[in-house]
Amino acid sequence: MTGVIFDVKRYSIHDGPGIRTTVFLKGCPLSCWWCHNPESQSAFTEIIYRPERCIGCGACEKACSRDAIRLTQRGYVADPDRCNGCGDCVSVCPSEARESVGREITVKELLKEIEKDVLFFDESGGGVTFSGGEPLSQPGFLEEALRSCCELEIRTAVDTCGFAPRHVLETIAPLTRLFLFDLKLMDPVLHRKYTGVSNEIILENLEWLTENRYETVVRIPVIPGVNDTEENIQGVGRFLSGLSIKPDVDLLAYHASATEKYRRFEMPYRLQDIAPPHEDHLRDISDRLEMFGLNVSTGG
Ligand code: SF4
Ligand code: SF4
Repeated sequence: MTGVIFDVKRYSIHDGPGIRTTVFLKGCPLSCWWCHNPESQSAFTEIIYRPERCIGCGACEKACSRDAIRLTQRGYVADPDRCNGCGDCVSVCPSEARESVGREITVKELLKEIEKDVLFFDESGGGVTFSGGEPLSQPGFLEEALRSCCELEIRTAVDTCGFAPRHVLETIAPLTRLFLFDLKLMDPVLHRKYTGVSNEIILENLEWLTENRYETVVRIPVIPGVNDTEENIQGVGRFLSGLSIKPDVDLLAYHASATEKYRRFEMPYRLQDIAPPHEDHLRDISDRLEMFGLNVSTGG
């Protein structure tokens, strides 16, 4: 069983309890305006080209068996319709102007990387967190990786946007110690505008997780002007306090650190004029959610 991942981050302390290894899977059904990992959205390996590093040797053009690369005014650019992400052009580039984002990996190979830090997991109460992208969008790979972690008694967490078929969640949930469940907007129209999909499935899945007593922390990215309105905060409070078990809530302040990534990927960044929320504003939102009887923390 193989999957496509784009990073493995060791010694993470923001993706669940203790010291964790976070595995970032590629592919996401949402395209949030504020996404910090634009390289996660496509399910496939992608090649980044940095013209400022290119010395114009033409080796990539010669190495490409699919004749995808052409010299243009923007340098040696690959035609996305021809490129299959094989990476041959990356390996011949002498100046690291081309870089592969994403790699195929077997569960066995991934477990070898994860097992390096078992000692830290044991000492800190940590474990492994599957994030993305959307980990539930590679259900077979995720299931096998979680199963292997369980066999090795490694604690598991899944960081999800919640947009997945119920049968996938039903398979994954018993193998997962903790869900970090993103909740963005209560209004389905606004949710569709800012993420590309309605929130109906997401809210139903969150209800199902709590009804079935799977441990879940709800993470809310606070994006000024998008989801910090009184109406949304009240809607979130009402919804979460009405669930079978009130989940803990973690508020995550928006920050614009991904701007450079969007530039590299030549993707438009639609939120670049928004400033991060002030600490007082976060505290105010936290206070308002606590009035619904919720336990709220800030900062992940
Ligand atoms: S990744 Fe492969 S197919 Fe794509 S441009 Fe490079 S060599 Fe050609
Ligand atoms: S191989 Fe690298 S340095 Fe040479 S032309 Fe291609 S991108 Fe530029």
